[in-house]
Amino acid sequence: MKRGERPELLWGFGLNSIEVGKIKDSLGPGFFLRNFSERSLPGEKELLQPEKPSATWIPLRVWNELPEARREAYRKLESTQRILIQDESEKNVDLESVLEDGFLAVINSPLTTSKVQDALFRAKEVAGLYGDLYRMTEEIIMERELLSRKTEQLMFLNTVLSNATERLEVSDILGQAVEDLKLLLPVLSVQGVFWDVVPAEAKTEAEIFINPGLIPAVQEEWIEFMIGSVTKLSGIEVGGYKISETTHVGDASMCYGPTGGRVLALPLITRGEKFGCLVMLCDKSVRLAKDQVSTLNAAVNHLSLALNNALMFTKIKTRADRDGLTRVYNRRSFDERLVEELRRHQRHGMDLSLLMIDLDYFKRVNDTYGHIAGDLVLETTARIFEETFRTTDFIARYGGEEFVILLPHTKVDQAEMLAERIREKIESHTMSYRDVDFKVTASIGVSSIRPGSLAKGAEIVRKADEALYKAKKQGRNKVVVSSSSARLRVV
Ligand code: GH3
Ligand code: MG
Ligand code: MG
Repeated sequence: MKRGERPELLWGFGLNSIEVGKIKDSLGPGFFLRNFSERSLPGEKELLQPEKPSATWIPLRVWNELPEARREAYRKLESTQRILIQDESEKNVDLESVLEDGFLAVINSPLTTSKVQDALFRAKEVAGLYGDLYRMTEEIIMERELLSRKTEQLMFLNTVLSNATERLEVSDILGQAVEDLKLLLPVLSVQGVFWDVVPAEAKTEAEIFINPGLIPAVQEEWIEFMIGSVTKLSGIEVGGYKISETTHVGDASMCYGPTGGRVLALPLITRGEKFGCLVMLCDKSVRLAKDQVSTLNAAVNHLSLALNNALMFTKIKTRADRDGLTRVYNRRSFDERLVEELRRHQRHGMDLSLLMIDLDYFKRVNDTYGHIAGDLVLETTARIFEETFRTTDFIARYGGEEFVILLPHTKVDQAEMLAERIREKIESHTMSYRDVDFKVTASIGVSSIRPGSLAKGAEIVRKADEALYKAKKQGRNKVVVSSSSARLRVV
């Protein structure tokens, strides 16, 4: 025993003086043996003392006389190894019952130094093994707990991944993500913003996906937040943006603005480049544990991949559906849409109108200012159309300097009014190319089919074309309504 160290406490229950003497002599000054007489064995007070004996020596004769309740109390004494002393006269105890009683070693009298030392050594060894077993069991239980949590997380990630890869539209992926992420944390809404860098202008073009049905003030708050996120994440100013809606998920909590909870704005990365930001609104109380953060990151990585694919898909689809110069739909898309709209017109008995627009003396624009100026006029005209018409109207470049606009639910007089408005807008717009300003005009043919009519697609196009021809003949910069559609003016 080192100096200043307290001796290790041992207890004895009703040991006789020979036993006490032998134990003390055998173990030396590093141990202090407190022997309780048979009549005053340790009671509650001693059992509750903070310093517990590391071993208790108990003769079988004493143990056998104890009432069961007291034995139970001694059995429960933690970190104490019990050593049973058996008299020569007693018949050998059955080892199994000794172990059941919680004795870690048995020793026969008369006691000798080596027997005492050996018994204490063995009792401590067994206790050490018990301790190891206990710790191992604890570890196994913890591992099992961890594994089941990992399994849950993997199942969650699997749900996110398979739901995201099943969908090809960004709006659908975001709409589904809110449902899936709810499995991990209390998400109120999921929105997103994506951007393209326009190198020449050193500005980004953003597409913002917000939840449908937001009140205008809340919508504004989100748009501002998203634009701020783009600037922060890309380091580039937003040049222009387009608003799209996520698929409706019918959750009332979607009405909240950025201050309605805790916002998590997570960058979306593909091939090392940030291309978007997932904006999650969570319950204010949300606190994420470390493993939840890594699961969330893994989920966002999955979503990143799916969203990037969806964006590419949209781009490729747009390329196939749209005219490369003006970015309005191309003729093939128009033909397809016309068939669809005619079917709808016939099924629901609604009006359908068509404008056919041709720029006047366009050849002269090319001849005077050059082909590039001509291209610019075509692009500008397309933008004027987009500003003027509703998103349900279908704008397409029919060919060369000729455009068609399909107007569902629009009667002939409304169509004529719109045609007149667009004619005026084109006429009054000043085109400018390389510091040269000039103006262009357009002629427009209008045709309509009324509810109940069984008109074919080719017919409504032919009538608009005939009306356009008449407008050209009447001197250009004019709107003419096809005679069979006209209500206001017959030509
Ligand atoms: P009108 O008033 O009778 O319509 O006369 P116009 O000159 O507009 O008609 P015309 O059909 O004689 O000429 C159309 C011109 O449009 C000829 C062609 O070079 C030009 N054009 C067609 N597609 C493009 C294009 O993509 N870019 C440019 N810059 N010009 C185009
Ligand atoms: Mg023309
Ligand atoms: Mg033409």
